[in-house]
Amino acid sequence: MQTVKTLQMLRTALAHLRVGDATIALVPTMGALHEGHLTLVRRAKAEADHVVASIFVNPKQFGANEDLDAYPRQLAADAAMLETEGVALLWAPDVAAMYPAGFVTNVSVAGVSEGLCGAARPGHFDGVATVVCKLFNQVQPDIAFFGEKDFQQLAVIRAMARDLDLTRPHVDSIIGVPTVREADGLAMSSRNRYLSPDQRAAAAALPRAMREAASAIGGGADAAGALARMEAELIAAGFASVDYAVLADSRSLEPLDALGSDPARLLVAARIGGTRLIDNLAVARA
Ligand code: AMP
Repeated sequence: MQTVKTLQMLRTALAHLRVGDATIALVPTMGALHEGHLTLVRRAKAEADHVVASIFVNPKQFGANEDLDAYPRQLAADAAMLETEGVALLWAPDVAAMYPAGFVTNVSVAGVSEGLCGAARPGHFDGVATVVCKLFNQVQPDIAFFGEKDFQQLAVIRAMARDLDLTRPHVDSIIGVPTVREADGLAMSSRNRYLSPDQRAAAAALPRAMREAASAIGGGADAAGALARMEAELIAAGFASVDYAVLADSRSLEPLDALGSDPARLLVAARIGGTRLIDNLAVARA
């Protein structure tokens, strides 16, 4: 595996990979890799000739009071994991390579960016859309892989690819991968390492309460009541607050009062200590 940090080196390395009709998959990450990321890489490897992974802690998607400085950075350890998984190329630009002096462009996706995490984190999804648009143009992958863990992010990226008529990758080649979880159900996240042992134990209440709410709603229970019970359970388990707990249409992410005939999703963001955790689950009629 080659690690490249400049656009020029990236282009040279990509030219060597893109011979004949060889296909390239992209797995964008912010590093501090875990089994969730590696699952994306394995899916990518199964579906393309070469996998390009990127590691870039994108300042544009962090708010002023968020954890940009504290976000874990471990490039050497991440590179070793990616190499073991058979990644061909690691694109690891620094901030100046991604956003050279004079950078002024912003990619903003209305609608799906606005509620949920977009409401709690103003500008976050503009930062995501801008950097992912750049990563797509830099690498020009045939296919790209993202986790359903960040369900709203996946919707934003798909809307961007559709609206901007992207071809590398085409919107239909933006693949969502189901969330990879710890044994107790907690969704794997680079931010889980912020949790103290007590907080980590309490955090298992999040997927548990979500499963209960999803199955109650799927079984016909009133959504507002099930969501309120879930919030109460989270607070009782030691969560400090619930940013949102919403039943939404899986495609538009518009909030729903009740389960209809279209696919629905339960989406939650909740804080435990200083750490904000997000998770989501499909809600199916029982
Ligand atoms: P991040 O490094 O947190 O920006 O994540 C990089 C990619 O990995 C994103 O597409 C995430 O949705 C995905 N990802 C993160 N955690 C998980 C997980 N537990 N399961 C599946 N995908 C994940």
